[in-house]
Amino acid sequence: MTPKPSYDLAVVGSGIIGLACALAAARLGKRVIVIDRDAQANGASVRNFGFVTVTGQERGAMWNRACRSAQVWDEVAACAGIPVIHRGLVMTARRPEAVAVLEAFLPTEMGEGCALLSPAMLAKHHAHLATDQIKAALYSPHDLRVESRQAIPRVAAYLAEQYGVVFQRQTTVTAVETSKIHTQGGIIEADAIAVCPGDDLVSLFADRVAQYGVTRCKLQMLRLANPGFKLTGAVMSDLGLVRYAGYAALPQAKALLTRLQAEQAQYLANGIHLIVVQSEDGSLVVGDSHHYGPTPDPFAHQAVDQLILDEYAAVFGQAPPRVIERWTGTYASASDRTVVIDTPTEGVRLVMVTTGAGASTGFALGEEVIEQLFAKAAVA
Ligand SMILES: Cc1cc2nc3c(=O)[nH]c(=O)nc-3n(C[C@H](O)[C@H](O)[C@H](O)COP(=O)(O)OP(=O)(O)OC[C@H]3O[C@@H](n4cnc5c(N)ncnc54)[C@H](O)[C@@H]3O)c2cc1C
Repeated sequence: MTPKPSYDLAVVGSGIIGLACALAAARLGKRVIVIDRDAQANGASVRNFGFVTVTGQERGAMWNRACRSAQVWDEVAACAGIPVIHRGLVMTARRPEAVAVLEAFLPTEMGEGCALLSPAMLAKHHAHLATDQIKAALYSPHDLRVESRQAIPRVAAYLAEQYGVVFQRQTTVTAVETSKIHTQGGIIEADAIAVCPGDDLVSLFADRVAQYGVTRCKLQMLRLANPGFKLTGAVMSDLGLVRYAGYAALPQAKALLTRLQAEQAQYLANGIHLIVVQSEDGSLVVGDSHHYGPTPDPFAHQAVDQLILDEYAAVFGQAPPRVIERWTGTYASASDRTVVIDTPTEGVRLVMVTTGAGASTGFALGEEVIEQLFAKAAVA
């Protein structure tokens, strides 16, 4: 009789997508191992805003995933001692065309629970914004923010402590086949395998990744000193309304895009849209830009940072506070799909979020992957 593999599930990659698969399987009572080549999480999952964005995600599957993932974040945050630093989103509109997009968004299913705020209401409740410039804002209660660089290690620690998930770090996976993971330290066996490599497009199943036209996207990020006010939620601007598919797919977004092309062409060329979130110490995480290619350069360009800071100044009506930290990050990106769930071989799933939404949709995606892997195992 062949001995049973030691694990029900092996996960390659300990970013949010790998952790999400591990959590979903652990919740079903499965024995799970997570393998990562780095000593601690170092990829997109700790470089992002920690902004669990529901509002504005692409209508349909992505929006549903974001709704479910926000619920799971709440559950995990409560159990793992992860502070939810703020909740809600204030999507500001400085142009009438942007207001038209918000007005069109509000009556959709995605606008449920949201409200349109007038400049007077903004002045009362969000006085730190440039209320003389902002014509209206959408307030959504659905979005939340965690500090990713602390939250991701805490999710991993919670999985280990609560569910006995084994983490094998500083271990590079060199090949994956049905029930077997080859590492530089030997073979690990598991009934099912989830490969969650983030934006490593070449080490595992490169041919499958290439088939989906996946490339990489580089983002520039800034941390600004405490501005002396407290945000009641994330803040975004007109540029986000032509970037986030939940708004951008609405017919009203066309007129806004035309106007932005005339007024903010450089911002669009650098893929800039504004997200501002706050940390527990009051500092702000502000971004971002988007540049694409198989190997984006690793440099944070001052001209790009300046555009981000200028958009901040336009929305807050004041010069941005001092920059205290800068970094770049990269994620997997595809022009025609938001996720890849591929079956390179039996019992194995290759899982990638191919848009900048893994923190927002990962937990739901993990549940889908585990349902596929173990439903199939149950039938077999
Ligand atoms: C700057 C920035 C801002 C963002 N902002 C947001 C946001 O606010 N909200 C949001 O929802 N999303 C955001 N995103 C996107 C989000 O962060 C990503 O979609 C998500 O983190 C991807 O998670 P992942 O687990 O797939 O990848 P990663 O976090 O990159 O993890 C992949 C892991 O796999 C490991 N690995 C890869 N190959 C191997 C191998 N062969 N052997 C062993 N280990 C391997 C790597 O070491 C790595 O730890 C942002 C991304 C960036 C870069």
